[in-house]
Amino acid sequence: MKADKMSIDISSLARKNVLRMKKYASARDEFSGKAKVFLDANENSFGTPGDKQLNRYPDPLQKVLRDKISAYKRLSSAERLFLGNGSDEAIDLILRAFCEPRVDSLMLLPPTYGMYSVTANVNDVSIIEVPLKSDFSLDTDKIIYIAEKKRPKVIFICSPNNPSANIYEEKDIERILSSVGSLVIVDEAYIDFSSKPSWVERLDEFKNLIVLQTFSKAWGMAGARLGMAFADPEIIEILNKIKYPYNISDCTADTVLRTLKDPSRKEKMVSAIKSERKILMKELLKMDLVKEVLPSEANFFLARFDDPDNVYRFLTDEGIVVRNRSDQLHCEGCLRITVGKHEENEMLCDALRKYSKKESA
Ligand code: PMP
Repeated sequence: MKADKMSIDISSLARKNVLRMKKYASARDEFSGKAKVFLDANENSFGTPGDKQLNRYPDPLQKVLRDKISAYKRLSSAERLFLGNGSDEAIDLILRAFCEPRVDSLMLLPPTYGMYSVTANVNDVSIIEVPLKSDFSLDTDKIIYIAEKKRPKVIFICSPNNPSANIYEEKDIERILSSVGSLVIVDEAYIDFSSKPSWVERLDEFKNLIVLQTFSKAWGMAGARLGMAFADPEIIEILNKIKYPYNISDCTADTVLRTLKDPSRKEKMVSAIKSERKILMKELLKMDLVKEVLPSEANFFLARFDDPDNVYRFLTDEGIVVRNRSDQLHCEGCLRITVGKHEENEMLCDALRKYSKKESA
């Protein structure tokens, strides 16, 4: 199944019931102009107790926010952008739109972000696994070979990858995109911490490409819940057709609109995190108990220990929580450490030194 990049027919990949169904028409879909009196949506016209007025439903298609984000991302059109309640919503909707339960499959490249398999299980979509090589690079030949044989509807490529923190070679992803007939999801939740360009810049070249990004990481807005999917307008239209009508709250939209007025604050945080990442990795490498620190293009990295479970427990007792990933493929002995503020990273280092002292006493 060699795919000509532009010949992929999105509607032949989508579930037939999704193509056939009529979208829910909310009051705000049917009338979105200016009016004196809105008595169409069973809202409470009296207002909201408290300062912020939230008595009206938000715009189902988030026009203002999508326009602003599209301009910031220099998209050719806002029709290429879907907004979700975190990128987790986009992951779920992609499966629900394109994978027929108990019939279709998707491809995962473990070790990778856990929500892909959870969402596949919820939707009863079978999983084909093509593990990363032991250096966490893509097994591109195998991915293409198996995709041609088993025809998964969707392939998830997390780049930079969670938990390994590396970013994949552009030429590998390019080969996959142009060789398979599947939708290829490049999850770029951590792209702002990388030195490599985003695949958003290459959207026009690949009709089967969906890029995921989020406001949860570099933008420091995990609590606001806003995720982005960038893709061909035909794909975006399908996602918008099946989402909950009001999936982005006015609180989230207003907060993000305010933040977008001064993106330099995000850029400053990203460069601070990148420089803290360098300092923390260097500090850890000085410690005998740290066997290896893996390179990172994200705001976290893997550090290898002889006794990760004991180190994890000790850190928790000291009030410091990291993620134990030692049971994941190729991650033997590894703890995943998020880069924090300088003083937090120093507390981690102090605790690790204390652990070493205790062990050698
Ligand atoms: N993708 C990856 C790779 C992640 O690590 C995460 C969260 N940890 C997400 C997506 C989901 O992010 P959110 O739903 O907050 O946008």
